[in-house]
Amino acid sequence: MKRTIVKIDEELCNGCGKCVTPCAEGAIVMVDGKAKVIKEELCDGAGFCLAVCPTGALTIEEREAKPFDHALAEKEQEKRGRQIINETCSICSATENDAPLIPIRTKGDSKWVCVRCLPALIHG
Ligand code: SF4
Repeated sequence: MKRTIVKIDEELCNGCGKCVTPCAEGAIVMVDGKAKVIKEELCDGAGFCLAVCPTGALTIEEREAKPFDHALAEKEQEKRGRQIINETCSICSATENDAPLIPIRTKGDSKWVCVRCLPALIHG
């Protein structure tokens, strides 16, 4: 089927690994120092990982791909267990235990922001 899915530009990928934890489905893993979508049926194409990439290596493309497999993604999540990301809000330093964190892009930077600080960032 034709659908949206994450595309990784290996030339731009610097191997930082920042895109791995935001992917709740576990579709992205590091292989030989480069990020890879291991199973296209694990990528829902939502693009939550895009904002955390400091090099612009991640984009969304529309192409022929296996359909997203929700049951398989849940199984992968169960295997990995609950993961607390080691990130804090770039404005107030809240952890994900304090408030939901969202990866964003602003003025050429990748940042994590908590939902409490997001309105001020949006509205100034
Ligand atoms: S965040 Fe970007 S540069 Fe870092 S590993 Fe993922 S694709 Fe590569």
